Amino acid sequence: MPETNQLNLPEQRSRELCGTMEVHRRLLNVSVTYQERRALIDNRALAYEDQSRGIARNGLLTIPVVVHVVLNPADPAQNVSDAQIQSQIDVLNEDFRADNPDVAGVPPVWTDRVADCNIEFRLASQDPNGSPTDGITRTPSTVPFFTTELDDVKSSATGGADPWPSDDYLNMWVCNDLRDGIGRVILGYAQFPGGPPTTDGVVIASFCFGKGGTAQAPFDLGRTATHEIGHWLDLRHIWGDDRGSCSGSDMVDDTPNQADATFNSPAFPQISCNNGPDGNMFMNYMDYTDDAAMFMFTKGQSRRIDACLEGERASFLTAPAFALTGAGTGTGPAPAAPAPHPAASTQTPAAMPAPAAPVPALAAPAQTQADGELLRLRQEVDQLRQDYRRTMVILEGIRAALNSDSLNPAGG
Ligand SMILES: [Zn+2]
Repeated sequence: MPETNQLNLPEQRSRELCGTMEVHRRLLNVSVTYQERRALIDNRALAYEDQSRGIARNGLLTIPVVVHVVLNPADPAQNVSDAQIQSQIDVLNEDFRADNPDVAGVPPVWTDRVADCNIEFRLASQDPNGSPTDGITRTPSTVPFFTTELDDVKSSATGGADPWPSDDYLNMWVCNDLRDGIGRVILGYAQFPGGPPTTDGVVIASFCFGKGGTAQAPFDLGRTATHEIGHWLDLRHIWGDDRGSCSGSDMVDDTPNQADATFNSPAFPQISCNNGPDGNMFMNYMDYTDDAAMFMFTKGQSRRIDACLEGERASFLTAPAFALTGAGTGTGPAPAAPAPHPAASTQTPAAMPAPAAPVPALAAPAQTQADGELLRLRQEVDQLRQDYRRTMVILEGIRAALNSDSLNPAGG
């Protein structure tokens, strides 16, 4: 065994693995804007779930990724190589396509719920200035550990690395030691859609990042990032974060109600909340099982992801054209084709309002339809960006007013 287990994982890992809900609660407490946006995002997701609103996108979406490595160069044991980073991207590309070999372990009662989320990830080949990049930044840092509370790995001012524009890139930070608000070691955390752009993305501790190198069993198969990006795409923990009460929900209807998080690598079935005979879907990526014990998203979760991609994260429907143009260094197909509409799509047609002009049968090549759809999405995204900027201006005004009130408390 390598001498890298300074974090006392066996003791720590059964406490809290993921800091996402802590960040969520903090943002809810401090930001009315976040509360309001979360309500809109959840409402939209529920409309997709009950299928009163259909899915517009079809085919494969490629999300450009930038990995910010924030480590102490004086400690060679912390080094995360380019190969380890690519191994993480490869895992994501299997897991979000249901192309992971261990999906064969899904119990037969649930095999028809397994989802291909039709998303792939590629290290960005253009940086925000349009220059070529390998999609990796490396920031030397002597900060001993980073925390969910401060979000300090996400800013150069606090020893971390600044994000790239979060509407064009998925920012993924990797650091050596990550803690929650009361100092417990965690594996990673994400910011749900709807939060501040300056802290948007996912953070993964290096001991559970990718395969090989610094990754340590039982979190050495890259599933922490799969779980955290699930959050980043608006998925909740499968047990509903209700501390075992059976009253909470992940707001997805094809995942069984489940009391609490599942740890380690249990045998099927595990019953809770009267969910027998099949019990908890503990092999879902949004549980807390070991990397080797989680291997599926459901179709309901995929619909929730689509609601997010066509709502709060709609910018990614066009971002690949910006961030992945040029000589890509990632794996997968050539980056030239617009991502949302590859020819190989097998999804059902959109149930959203149809484009204004009907497409003549047999007369329009697939590429023309794709171009029209892409143009429509670009216009929609531009409109969303304008709305967002206006909202931010209003929000700044409210913040300024609140600050001036708090400096002059009533009765003072
Ligand atoms: Zn989580």
